[in-house]
Amino acid sequence: MEYLKQRILKDGVIKEGGILKVDSFLNHQIDVEVLNEIGKEFKKRFSDRKVTKILTVESSGIAIAVIAAQYFNVPVLFAKKTESSNMDKNTYESEVYSYTKAKKYKIRISRNYINKEDKILVIDDFLANGSAALGLINLVEAAGAELSGIGIVIEKSFQDGGKKLRKKGINLHSLAEVEFDNENNILFK
Ligand code: 5GP
Repeated sequence: MEYLKQRILKDGVIKEGGILKVDSFLNHQIDVEVLNEIGKEFKKRFSDRKVTKILTVESSGIAIAVIAAQYFNVPVLFAKKTESSNMDKNTYESEVYSYTKAKKYKIRISRNYINKEDKILVIDDFLANGSAALGLINLVEAAGAELSGIGIVIEKSFQDGGKKLRKKGINLHSLAEVEFDNENNILFK
């Protein structure tokens, strides 16, 4: 996705600890045109798969998943990170280690919105060590649903999340695979 790569080169900022900041178009301010291209590309990459629902995790995954869902014509389900009194108590839960926040947290989805007939496409903004993606896969498995694939906007190929998922035979598509050189330039694989 040349368009996305150019935008990452133009606006991406490398931070300490191998963090890529893209909050001028993806994680804070959102450029809907970029998201639209991302959504179209996911539809193209997963066009051979049956998808009944898109699953992501709050908060940065939601906008991407919602735009992509318009191309798949399916609902979006997002895993919540906090418990709230108005959320169904009947949930599937999983634990995730946050790379950016350096702490563990739980994600949860209501059992009402996923079942074993579902074919789930998991979407997220970044893939680093794979904890968020694996946590989402756990939820899909707990529900007895089928995983159609995983769509990632930016995979950091110097971390091993991609390797872990590919080793499991998961149908993983990352739209941009990035690494950084010694002078803090962004390179694409
Ligand atoms: P993982 O669970 O694969 O280690 O990390 C993926 C999650 O951490 C994503 O949901 C994303 O929100 C966050 N993340 C990991 N690395 C980065 C990064 O370099 N930049 C940003 N903005 N988020 C990241």
